[in-house]
Amino acid sequence: MVEAVKVSKSFGSNEVLKSISLRVERGQVMCVVGPSGSGKSTFLRCINHLEVVNAGRLYVDGELVGYREKSDKLYELKPAEAARQRRDIGMVFQHFNLFPHMTALENICEAPMQVKGVSKADASARAHDLLARVGLGAQASHYPAQLSGGQQQRVAIARALAMDPKLMLFDEPTSALDPELVGEVLDVMRGLAGTGMTMVVVTHEMGFAREVGDQLVFMDGGVIVESGDPHDVLANPQHERTKAFLSKVL
Ligand code: ATP
Ligand code: MG
Repeated sequence: MVEAVKVSKSFGSNEVLKSISLRVERGQVMCVVGPSGSGKSTFLRCINHLEVVNAGRLYVDGELVGYREKSDKLYELKPAEAARQRRDIGMVFQHFNLFPHMTALENICEAPMQVKGVSKADASARAHDLLARVGLGAQASHYPAQLSGGQQQRVAIARALAMDPKLMLFDEPTSALDPELVGEVLDVMRGLAGTGMTMVVVTHEMGFAREVGDQLVFMDGGVIVESGDPHDVLANPQHERTKAFLSKVL
């Protein structure tokens, strides 16, 4: 579902991703861990073409991200085509980025109605289903300010799911939450993984990575230092840098 082939990305002279290659099969969950500044968010942003890669290729569901290939040359997609690709990828951020002036229900209906032209009645029915699925059936008419951080993040997940994504990207979805609210968000993510959603999750929640992840990738300095079955990587890290990082977070 996701394939990165020697992906590199620089900001000026700062080479943030250095020839990253990986694969995430359909229905798999890949967890990405690594120290601050190692390039985790940049990598996620490249997957949905919020950042343009400098070299290498990214494929989502077999489709080259952001470019069209013609006789071995790459041409950047027009904004409308890039937007069409991005529509199939849901993204959830550390800060929930809900629209503050809209209720939970309205937040979820917005993109399907505006981007896909879904009717208000259909979008609303679907939003109610999604809210029930994330355990917020009773909070449909609440505004973000009336919800806890964990509830807001669950609305954000429901909002991403409303676009029927093929792939969900999570960038430290629980890092901004009070510890007692982390579990409810991880539960929703665990449930989503159980439905067969393909997910790439940047997280420091090693318990989640071990239990839900099919692969764990440890990034440092813009390279993949180590990757594999989460149980193996966590129990038997092979590289000093991985050991040093895990000793701080486990
Ligand atoms: P954290 O754990 O703190 O979220 P991260 O692994 O997600 O870190 P990135 O946010 O991908 O790291 O940043 C990697 C490097 O890229 C950092 O040196 C950062 O300063 C740089 N960087 C990221 N985005 C930009 C940008 N838009 N312009 C310039 N430099 C950037
Ligand atoms: Mg980040």
